[in-house]
Amino acid sequence: MRMTVLASGSKGNSTVVASANTRLLVDAGLSCRELLKRMAVANEDPSALDAILITHEHHDHIAGLATLARRLRIPVYLTEPTHREWVRMVTPRTTMTYAKWLDHVQKEKELRAEAQLNRAPHGREDEVEAIVGTLPTPPDQPCEVIPSVAAASADPDPDECEDPPTPRRDPAHLPAIEYFRSGTNFSIGDISITPFTIPHDAADPCGFVFESESVRMAIATDLGYMPPNVKAALKRIDVLLLESNHDLDMLKDGPYPWAVKQRVLSRVGHLSNHATAEFLARDYDGGAAWIVLGHLSEANNAPELALLSAEQAIGGRMTLLGNRILLAQQAAPLTPICL
Ligand SMILES: [Zn+2]
Ligand SMILES: [Zn+2]
Repeated sequence: MRMTVLASGSKGNSTVVASANTRLLVDAGLSCRELLKRMAVANEDPSALDAILITHEHHDHIAGLATLARRLRIPVYLTEPTHREWVRMVTPRTTMTYAKWLDHVQKEKELRAEAQLNRAPHGREDEVEAIVGTLPTPPDQPCEVIPSVAAASADPDPDECEDPPTPRRDPAHLPAIEYFRSGTNFSIGDISITPFTIPHDAADPCGFVFESESVRMAIATDLGYMPPNVKAALKRIDVLLLESNHDLDMLKDGPYPWAVKQRVLSRVGHLSNHATAEFLARDYDGGAAWIVLGHLSEANNAPELALLSAEQAIGGRMTLLGNRILLAQQAAPLTPICL
């Protein structure tokens, strides 16, 4: 198995988990373009991805989701409450009269015709894309108008992160959606997946354990504390991506407004270096080859503090092949971890 952390932190999270025959992307919290760039840097082939799995609907986990899923035409696995909340977030709330809608459609057609006449594929058409992409669908809009207008759009440049021509009217459109429930095991290809509930302020957030060929990898970030179900899920893990979000003193003295500090510190916020160390010292079974510390706050943590805290907690259990600790990065992918 292989884990490649493409990005980790409050500005975007995404990780490739792969077996011999199956490749999954967990979260898509950077733009589609940036995700493709990172995959290229890390030698991960996006066209080989089988599915995208989503932990929760916070922006740093879903920013590039719709565009990437449509671009790669792969299914998205998430829980039903997470999906519902995401749809609510991405659907424009502005309404528009039918007359205004027709006016927009007419203008859009004119722009397209003009762009074609001028043979400027990336000139005015970009403008059209911008209009079309942000246009809300009025509630009484007849369905057949949508594909006929969308069908007129130009073929997307395969090198660009643009939506395919249809159905671009719906920002919440995904090529395929598969629901899972936390606590219920499911498989994609030869990877067995166990999602587990995490305490975090999202609709139905979860972490994952992935297993293939007796190797187990887990992702547990964005959790306010370590409840018994998470401790139980993180047994016999070979590669563990674990949150070490903030240093308590840095957070308390740091720049965040009080309300945000309260949120981060709460039982549905993020794990501090201290809480992570406590888990590693008291509950962790010590069996991992790699522990990757992730979702580090840029404002309220320092990589060396997170690392020192985890190293002290692991203590004498760190060996040449066991309990090696890495720091996931926000700005660049980590070298793939292969077991
Ligand atoms: Zn979150
Ligand atoms: Zn997050």
